[in-house]
Amino acid sequence: MFARVAFDLPVPTEFTYAVPERLRASVQLGQRVRVPFRTTTRIGYLVAFEDTSELPRIKDIASILDPDPLLPAELMQLARWISGYYCCSLGEVIQAMLPGGVRKSRPKVRCAVIVEGATIESLSKRAKRAAELWEELQGYRKPPVVARLLAETGISRAALQTLVKAGMVRIEEHDADEQFATATAATGETPPELEPQQSAVLDAIYPDIEAKIFRTHLLLGVTGSGKTEVYLRAIDKTVRDGRQAIVLVPEIALTPQTVRRFRARFDRVAVLHSAQSESERRRAWTRIRRGEADVVIGPRSAIFAPVPHLGLVVVDEEHENSFKQETTPRYHARDVALVRAKAVHCPVLLGSATPSLESYSNALRGRYVLHRLPHRVGKLPMPPVELVDMSGEPGRLFSPRLRVAVQHAIDAGGQVILFLNRRGFATLVLCGRCKHMLSCPHCSSTLVFHKGRRRAACHLCGHETPLPDRCPECHQAALKQVGSGTEKVLEEAERAWPRVTYVRVDSDTARGDQIEEALDQFRNGAARILVGTQMVAKGHHFPNVTLVGIVNADTALHLPDFRANERTFSLIAQVAGRAGRSERGGRVIVQTYNPGHYAVALAAQHDFEKFARAELEERELLGLPPLRRCALLVVSGEDQALAKTQMQRVADSVRRHSNTTLVEVRGPAKAPLERLRGRWRFMVLMLSTSASALAEACAIARGTKVTRKIDLVVDMDPAAAL
Ligand code: ADP
Ligand code: ZN
Repeated sequence: MFARVAFDLPVPTEFTYAVPERLRASVQLGQRVRVPFRTTTRIGYLVAFEDTSELPRIKDIASILDPDPLLPAELMQLARWISGYYCCSLGEVIQAMLPGGVRKSRPKVRCAVIVEGATIESLSKRAKRAAELWEELQGYRKPPVVARLLAETGISRAALQTLVKAGMVRIEEHDADEQFATATAATGETPPELEPQQSAVLDAIYPDIEAKIFRTHLLLGVTGSGKTEVYLRAIDKTVRDGRQAIVLVPEIALTPQTVRRFRARFDRVAVLHSAQSESERRRAWTRIRRGEADVVIGPRSAIFAPVPHLGLVVVDEEHENSFKQETTPRYHARDVALVRAKAVHCPVLLGSATPSLESYSNALRGRYVLHRLPHRVGKLPMPPVELVDMSGEPGRLFSPRLRVAVQHAIDAGGQVILFLNRRGFATLVLCGRCKHMLSCPHCSSTLVFHKGRRRAACHLCGHETPLPDRCPECHQAALKQVGSGTEKVLEEAERAWPRVTYVRVDSDTARGDQIEEALDQFRNGAARILVGTQMVAKGHHFPNVTLVGIVNADTALHLPDFRANERTFSLIAQVAGRAGRSERGGRVIVQTYNPGHYAVALAAQHDFEKFARAELEERELLGLPPLRRCALLVVSGEDQALAKTQMQRVADSVRRHSNTTLVEVRGPAKAPLERLRGRWRFMVLMLSTSASALAEACAIARGTKVTRKIDLVVDMDPAAAL
């Protein structure tokens, strides 16, 4: 009997070991094993069994680490697919699937257990403290953890020892996770009566849930159209049928407000997120694995939640970039969701007001079922969007139209969101005389001035420097600040409307819980004007917002990325969607230098489908996704010349060995971000209508030998071609 073992290493192969007689009864796929490796030992994952092996001199597995497989067979299968499709090793995928805490052994805690039949009679009359502790112990429903018992009662350890000696109490080691396992109960909420447009969608999804049919439903619903209610009902059906649902949400949308909506409906909700400690995550994982959670909510990695009977996957805001992981394994959680759902036969529900063009074109081609929710709930109209051409307002942050609108909104008792997707104060710092720009010593990027910290910072690598008094290049003149970020928006707004309360939300002001605190201040009216970046754009429901001002809609428009138009459209539509969510109504003012650009103009008309069709035509002309699949190869290294020649080698090898009638190879070229964290970067773009031909080309690229000082990244379906 032989076993194949995968390691968390970037090596494409698995290694064969013999299973010694003494371990044969206990080995199972998905366990971790310790094996001899070169001159030492290593821990690896057991991924396959074989009856025979051709290899000479096969070493034995030394020991098994887990009594049970860490991953169920279904997820092992999924891991194999991910490793093949995203071009990485199986061990790397398994490592990424398991939350950190699960890979470690489970901690034990010491608990005080009452010995059956013991009575206080066994205790000496003088042991007063011990008697007290005995009384206290009777009040616990489960044997308490010793440390907790002593802390809560304030009684000494000696008293506990007395009880143990008297044979009344026994100290036992218990699984720490068991101690903390708590079931939450639904807070109870009567679901609203469905609107006809919601019922129509659900009527189409229910049969797939019930009959366990793999099918993808794309819910294209404007902001505030009741998509979440559709998710909740579909999940409810799944749970009533005895299966579990996974809900994927973008990282920044995973707020207490979102979680509350799910907890209000369902008893057994497990939440996974990146801010959790290892033990919290392990606990959640254990519960999920035992089938003790009906609904799992989390960001992209939640697609690996080991629910025993997956009955539905929901992907909210499916167009979001954060579903794509930017480190190995570079998987896209939405696409992994489809593969997993297909394997276990369950439907997938994708929802967005601005779907990715990938999903939308799949729907047009009939691969997904397209459902439209064209109206807001309760007959609320979509807010009117006014475009303001800023080319007539040089150097101004707020146009007269926006100023008047803010004043009106405040006077009428409404709230305002001022949106700019750039943090910091000034986006450029340059010399007034020689025009030298402060730039990052490690990246090909300019530094952004942060007034609060009085420093200039690189937003790519985090490099920071105090602002010099004079130009560091010509030493003649002072530095000028050009361009604006949220810090300046806030400063100018405070100057224009001094008696108003403000809150600023971007990744400089807020992290984790603080974001939610700041948003709460706005939600409860303590702050009247919210200034923020895309953190405020997603999913939030602020009924009192009557004006949204987009200070500059063009921030993404000129990025060297083929999705620049798509990003621009979606950001405008999402931010605009925060306005007019109650009877008070609302309006949106979009400041732009490109009012005629179709991404901007159609976003103002809330016309996603018209935009998508125009953009799809554009992509077709250029041969870009979603009409063809794309893979990006990036070679990087500290030595520019070496990185360049190595990229050329990889490109040559792909051109020589892959099917170039099926795969177009573009490049090598400098990456748009030519230098990042001190490394020079070159890229090759590969495009094909054939997924298998592209995968083959990726494998060839990955198999090309490059020198050790060079990194080669293969990124299948890249989120950004940067
Ligand atoms: P979306 O997810 O499409 O932005 P939501 O599901 O958040 O929209 O719905 C917007 C608001 O409308 C929420 O406050 C929600 O509770 C409410 N809502 C949703 N469906 C209904 C309905 N059928 N009847 C009444 N209110 C509803
Ligand atoms: Zn940098």
